This record gives sequence, structure tokens and C-alpha cells, in this order.
Amino acid sequence: MDIVLMGAPGAGKGTQAEQLEKQLHYMHISTGDVLRKEMASGSELGKEISAVINRGDLIPDDMMLSILKKVVSGAKGDIIFDGFPRTVKQAEMLDKMLCELGRKLGKVINVSLADEVVIARLSTRKQCKLPNGETKQIGPNFSLEDCKAQGGEVFTRKDDTPESIAHRLSVYHKQTAPVADFYRAAGRFVEVNGDQAPDQVFADLLTVLKA
Ligand code: AMP
Repeated sequence: MDIVLMGAPGAGKGTQAEQLEKQLHYMHISTGDVLRKEMASGSELGKEISAVINRGDLIPDDMMLSILKKVVSGAKGDIIFDGFPRTVKQAEMLDKMLCELGRKLGKVINVSLADEVVIARLSTRKQCKLPNGETKQIGPNFSLEDCKAQGGEVFTRKDDTPESIAHRLSVYHKQTAPVADFYRAAGRFVEVNGDQAPDQVFADLLTVLKA
């Protein structure tokens, strides 16, 4: 069954989803990564997306779904959705899309983190651009040393500026937090404490997935 990893920006969804992909062979779909790839392609759609992302707003629901649908349609195994759904409308659209594709949604796991910790993490986080164009986040799965050893270039995401971080957090509270209530009502919602060492968060995720 597919799963959704929810949480504020910087809660560690991407880091944990990468580990779940590596160890439990889920297909990891990060909508942020899908959108950044579109931006990097230089397409007209990419330019449109870039303006929205850089100011910390959300891509319109219909546009997001049509981009995501192309990725999900080709998926073979179980999927981890990372960064989707971010609005209640997207959650409703996800149910409909999975049903049409004959897929099933299992647990929705929220990686919870206090706002002060989110701000501290996002203000200091760094990315690495590898010579092949791939981008990795510097963190537990990919160190600064890994970046240097592979000839990568360290940079800060354009949406990790103090203004954009503050805006993204307010967007999260207004638009994404209600998604938790949507899934709580559906009896699928579970919570994991994101303010722990990444290995401990991962261990808690495994426990929740096995339950
Ligand atoms: P992320 O990498 O998950 O932090 O996403 C980076 C940015 O991509 C967000 O701040 C949004 O602008 C956009 N984005 C990612 N996922 C979605 C989504 N499900 N709906 C709308 N916009 C999204």
C-alpha cells in the first residue's frame, strides 16, 4: 500500500523517505523534487513554477495533480508521497487518482516538529549540486564531505531565505495542517516525533509501519 509522509518544511520527510526507499524499496515521490526538475529543464511550465516556489507559495492544485499523475501512472511498487498532499483539495484528488489507478493508500504519517526547530533547520540547511546535475540535500544521507569528494557545489535553496521560510510556515499552518484533520477523520493518521536523531525517527517510522 502507498503511504504519505506529512510534516512542515524541514521536518525531515525527504531524509526519511530516502531511507524507506533504500531499505523497504518504496518508490519515493517528492513533489518538491519533481517541480525542481521541471524548473531545471527550462520549460515554460518550469519558469511559471519557479516564481511560485521562490516566493514560498503552493503550486495550484490542478497543475500539481496533472504533473504528479504522469509520475504516479508509471509507478510499479508501493509509493511514498513526500510533500503531497499539501491541501485538503489535493488529499481528495489523491484518493480519486489512486482509486482510478487501482492503487490503495495505507498510513499517513506526520513527522511533527515545532516551528522554532523548523526555522533553525531551514535557515542553516545546504544543498549539493553534483556534476551530473543531480541535487542532494546535505544531511544524514549525504554529507558535506560526500559533496566535495564527488566534485559537487554547495548552495542554499532560493526558498530557504528568512522571508520565504516564514511565508512557507504560514502557508503550512493555513493550508497543509488541515490535511491532518482530513486523514485523522479517515482513521489513517499517525504521528512520529521529528525532533529526534534521524535514526530514531526512522526506527519510530518502522514501528508505525509495522503496526
Ligand atoms: P519541498 O521540497 O517539499 O519543500 O517543496 C518546495 C516547494 O515546492 C513548496 O514550497 C511549494 O512551492 C512547491 N510544492 C511542493 N509540493 C507541492 C504540492 N503538493 N502542492 C503545491 N506546491 C508544492
